[in-house]
Amino acid sequence: MNELPPSTEPRFCPACGDALNQQLLPSEERPRLVCPQGHILYVNPKIIVGVIPERRGKLLLMRRAIEPRHGFWTFPGGFMEIDESVEECAAREALEETGVTVRIDGLVGVYSRPGPAGPGIVSIVYRGKVTGGPISPGREALEVRWFVPSEIPWDGLAYETTRWALRDWLESKR
Ligand SMILES: [Zn+2]
Repeated sequence: MNELPPSTEPRFCPACGDALNQQLLPSEERPRLVCPQGHILYVNPKIIVGVIPERRGKLLLMRRAIEPRHGFWTFPGGFMEIDESVEECAAREALEETGVTVRIDGLVGVYSRPGPAGPGIVSIVYRGKVTGGPISPGREALEVRWFVPSEIPWDGLAYETTRWALRDWLESKR
């Protein structure tokens, strides 16, 4: 899964290019970024979709080949594109990053980390039954391999959300 570091606040209006400033408008519950023309820029979370590919009781994890969290383990996932469904995104990420095809098989969970240090994302994580292979690490993976649940590298996971989702995946197996 990819997460961005905390985003810096946008400085220019995407509609007209003028400078944005925080203002409390009568129509809004909290300060918003507003330009002199009155365009409001709403800053909302982005959606990341992940999938935990599984087959015969094992799950497939990949080791990240890119920053942030280079060398740490996670399951396939990434930013949702504007023209796909969440399920399509999950299946696409599995194929791109690990080479396997998956049949989406229910939701593991939806995760967010609010607050000033949060990454500004919502992670949606699915279970995926592996329907085809072979394993083939994509550009963003150093290594892809199967784990039995007792081998999950808890100390080497990329993100807190990775840990939360794997914990919930395991719970659902019991
Ligand atoms: Zn503007």
